[in-house]
Amino acid sequence: MTSSPRLVLASHNAGKLRELRELLRGRIEGLEVETEVVDAGFVGAPDVTETGTSFAENSMLKARAVMRATGLPAVADDSGLCVDVMNGAPGIFSARWSGRHGDDAANIELLLAQLGDVPAEHRGARFRCAASLALPGGGERVEHGEMPGSLLREARGNGGFGYDPIFVPSELPADLAGRTAAEIPAEVKNALSHRGRALEALVPHLREALGAPSGGRG
Ligand code: IMP
Repeated sequence: MTSSPRLVLASHNAGKLRELRELLRGRIEGLEVETEVVDAGFVGAPDVTETGTSFAENSMLKARAVMRATGLPAVADDSGLCVDVMNGAPGIFSARWSGRHGDDAANIELLLAQLGDVPAEHRGARFRCAASLALPGGGERVEHGEMPGSLLREARGNGGFGYDPIFVPSELPADLAGRTAAEIPAEVKNALSHRGRALEALVPHLREALGAPSGGRG
């Protein structure tokens, strides 16, 4: 056991935890040494019902609940896919769009069916993310990030999770242009992702809360 400050990542979603860990590792210098990052499942924290009406509300509900259950600073994110022609849907319902929470294949299938008649020029979409930090002392902070792109007509690629196989980010480097978020290296996705951007904005507050040195990449 270490005496360094600990941080809980408030998520039970393995794909997201993997990304959050990678994102934090790259952004806070010395994080692995000075901060023990543990996931919510590991510390027995509750799975929180997302009753909020925005990404910000839902991410804070999760961060607060896990902070209270563990007594540790907690970071949570809430995110989703917002399709332009659908006025921002699925949005906060992204994980359960098909009616079954976390069924990525069914969610993609339903969304592609709904967009069946929508031509390429109107298939714009963006992932949005709110990242929240809740501190045992009562401090709270929410930051936002987004990744614009467009939707294909069929899934491609085995990486990532969720809607990644049908989403082509619009800001990819030239050698990866046109690939889906499931066909690019994780570090490329993390550098442009909605989650990466929201967490990047949270980093100064995390450093302060965890007593980590300023500096690093952020
Ligand atoms: P959350 O766990 O409530 O934040 O739900 C997020 C849902 O939005 C996921 O289950 C995915 O369906 C979708 N989503 C969020 N971020 C991503 C991403 O980076 N790639 C693909 N799908 C995502």
